[in-house]
Amino acid sequence: MKDIAIVGGGPAGSLCGERLASHGYNVTIYDEHLAWEKPCGGGLTHKAIAAYPFLLDGSQPKRIVRTAELISGNGHRARFDMSHPIVIYARKVLNGLLLDRATAAGCTTVRTRVTSVATDRDRVRLTAGSEERASDFVVVAAGARNQLLPETTALTARDLEVTLGYFVPTEEDILKVKFLKEFEGYLWSFPRADHLSVGICAKMGQSPTQQLRRHLDEFVSEENIPMNGAQFYSHVLPSPQAQTIRGRRIVGKNWAMAGDAAACVDPITGEGLYYALRSGELLAQALIEGQLQSYPERLRAAFSADLEFAASIAKKIFRGTFLGGAITTRMVQLLNCSPTFRDLIRDVFSGSQDYRTLKQRLFSQVGTTVLEFARSFFGAGPAAIRSQRREIQS
Ligand SMILES: Cc1cc2nc3c(=O)[nH]c(=O)nc-3n(C[C@H](O)[C@H](O)[C@H](O)COP(=O)(O)OP(=O)(O)OC[C@H]3O[C@@H](n4cnc5c(N)ncnc54)[C@H](O)[C@@H]3O)c2cc1C
Repeated sequence: MKDIAIVGGGPAGSLCGERLASHGYNVTIYDEHLAWEKPCGGGLTHKAIAAYPFLLDGSQPKRIVRTAELISGNGHRARFDMSHPIVIYARKVLNGLLLDRATAAGCTTVRTRVTSVATDRDRVRLTAGSEERASDFVVVAAGARNQLLPETTALTARDLEVTLGYFVPTEEDILKVKFLKEFEGYLWSFPRADHLSVGICAKMGQSPTQQLRRHLDEFVSEENIPMNGAQFYSHVLPSPQAQTIRGRRIVGKNWAMAGDAAACVDPITGEGLYYALRSGELLAQALIEGQLQSYPERLRAAFSADLEFAASIAKKIFRGTFLGGAITTRMVQLLNCSPTFRDLIRDVFSGSQDYRTLKQRLFSQVGTTVLEFARSFFGAGPAAIRSQRREIQS
């Protein structure tokens, strides 16, 4: 296997291509836009920066954000410093940086749309623009919405989120996230080098687009974001169900998928950049070591077991209640009154706390959190504290 075609030159395709080309493969990356402003927040958490330090070290414009603010559905606010900063890029800059690295490693990039992929013969055949191309293997890293491979299923509405937003030419230093009542999704404002990415994401089919647009415009107005020159965008984002993460086919004899195409996205936060990069890298490693079929296990060991757990609790987090109020509201309140809980959320937001150990951490510090919460809300009476502790444990 020598010639590899990669459909999609986003983070997953570029990093996969870079790694393969550095090991002597002939890699061609096909992308209909190459470096472009893909609708995205552009936020890279600590795990991405720790794994790929060039994302922080390079001279490309980016914003390093240290402070976040959470806003609950009924307007409570909590501001905190994250334990590690989030690095926010414009996607045109990030994609350009990754594609440049892929080209420097030896990849050929072709700006064209791939309209078909056939994997049923020895060599893979692709229709790229008006040309027919052949390769030994194809990596599909073409994002959430593609049906290029008949050997697997496309992501359905249950595995997707709708996103709408604006790129706003203004400056800000704080990252904001706002929850809405009984709503699976959230609003965000991510400051970038010279503009903000403001948006809303919601489970597909949950709310009509006009309603999402209304929530978005209300948020923009509440946060006093000046909208002169703002550009509207919309896009889909995977929000995979647990069974999709566990069971969907992402590899065949002469094909594999990475990034959003393989549904490698956190179903709670929508973080996908780190998982796109890491899946591209793990796929390249599996190919280089001649162990393609081990790719899903490698993903599982690296992160997909954690994402599966996240998928099983996502609905509860957005729609669940605790002490008579929405979990997201209680989370904002706890942030303000419990230093122990604040430390935990600082780690969650900066991407240094995974979901499975989060559960253990929450349990191990439940006593302290309840004590701090109860002191702040109910006074320090022992009966009130015992009752809160019982509720948290159940
Ligand atoms: C609104 C929004 C906000 C987000 N915010 C964040 C965030 O702040 N942090 C974070 O970590 N993640 C975020 N994400 C998720 C993140 O954008 C994705 O997970 C990430 O881009 C996935 O990378 P990828 O390489 O798999 O796919 P993509 O980045 O989607 O790249 C796919 C590439 O394939 C190309 N392509 C598609 N079809 C074809 C074709 N037929 N032929 C040729 N080329 C094709 C496209 O042009 C594109 O360049 C957000 C997503 C959205 C929609």
